[in-house]
Amino acid sequence: MNKSRVIILPCDDYREDFVYEGLKAGVALLGGLGKMIGKGERILLKPNLLKKSEVERAVITHPVVVGAFARILREEGYGNIILADSCGTSTTSRVIKGTGMDDYLQKYDIPVVDFSQGVRVEYPQGVQAKDFVIPKELLESDCVISLCKMKTHALERITGAVKNSYGFIYGLHKAKGHTVYPSADSFARMLVDLNQYVKPRLYVMDGIVAMEGNGPGSGDPVPMRVMLLSTDPVALDSVYCRLVNLKPELVPTNYHGERMGLGVWQEENIELFTPSGEITMQDAVQQFGKPDFNVDRSPMRSNIWTRAAKALNIFQKKPRIIKDKCIRCGICVKSCPVPGKAVDFKNGKGNPPVYDYKKCIRCFCCQEMCPERAIDVR
Ligand code: SF4
Ligand code: SF4
Repeated sequence: MNKSRVIILPCDDYREDFVYEGLKAGVALLGGLGKMIGKGERILLKPNLLKKSEVERAVITHPVVVGAFARILREEGYGNIILADSCGTSTTSRVIKGTGMDDYLQKYDIPVVDFSQGVRVEYPQGVQAKDFVIPKELLESDCVISLCKMKTHALERITGAVKNSYGFIYGLHKAKGHTVYPSADSFARMLVDLNQYVKPRLYVMDGIVAMEGNGPGSGDPVPMRVMLLSTDPVALDSVYCRLVNLKPELVPTNYHGERMGLGVWQEENIELFTPSGEITMQDAVQQFGKPDFNVDRSPMRSNIWTRAAKALNIFQKKPRIIKDKCIRCGICVKSCPVPGKAVDFKNGKGNPPVYDYKKCIRCFCCQEMCPERAIDVR
């Protein structure tokens, strides 16, 4: 069996030339773009654009990483490129406006596309998901490059390469997906199916400044000083896990990703390279790891335990509103996919919304989308 190659690019900060040189070296270590993308192909760049946020908060893929990758594509003669994402509560163009990403895209003449229409596609070979509603613009593209962000996630512990593809589900179907695949395992299997359907050709992870704690929208920025590249999203995410002292198999997208053939997480099936040459996992962890990174390392519960806890509504993570941070904007209520809403202004719009934990399916969309970091998960 061929090993999956993951590239670790040390990068102290977002200085443009450093990021550009690093990415160029990383792409070369994977055999070059020519091996992955044909010259006439229409390329869709897919950053993580969860929501409108200051770049420093590490919610979105950093504009310098997007700009540097766009520059490499242009220099290598790729002509047909667009950038798009299905953002949480806004459009791609609104989310990137004023972040600096818009300037890079203008400079490299890459149109920003707001997905305009959802198309249902069948995927009979899916293990968990037999169909998806995806944007028409994705169907019109030949090739996807995933420019993901290193962040924590309340449901899946981390969001990285595999999870970034959820932005290929069109508009409100994203929220609906949480009701169809409510558990971390079913959601992960659906994500694996989705990656196998979309087949991004390359995954580039921005971990120069990552997000720890209450991610993916309300955590704390933390310098990890690396970018990771791979064509195998499971291998890439598993290296991210090891760098933050999290057992890769605790992450459902890794566990199911390997079982379903999307990629590999076991160390013996991964080869690691930096621009200085091959490196062992142990040395990589020693050089680039952050063992106290704030991420959920709680042990996996058996299915029986999970089902019992769910039925009795006990020992489960819960979203909770920090009242003095809440500005009563109602975005959490709007984001809740449960019919009849599991969070609502029960005490009037002058007070923070209130949870109905009996209805809540623990998808944590409310916590992801709160613009004030006023929801945490305990
Ligand atoms: S989204 Fe956040 S700030 Fe807005 S109402 Fe909900 S908890 Fe309050
Ligand atoms: S209240 Fe929050 S966590 Fe619960 S179902 Fe609604 S969006 Fe999901």
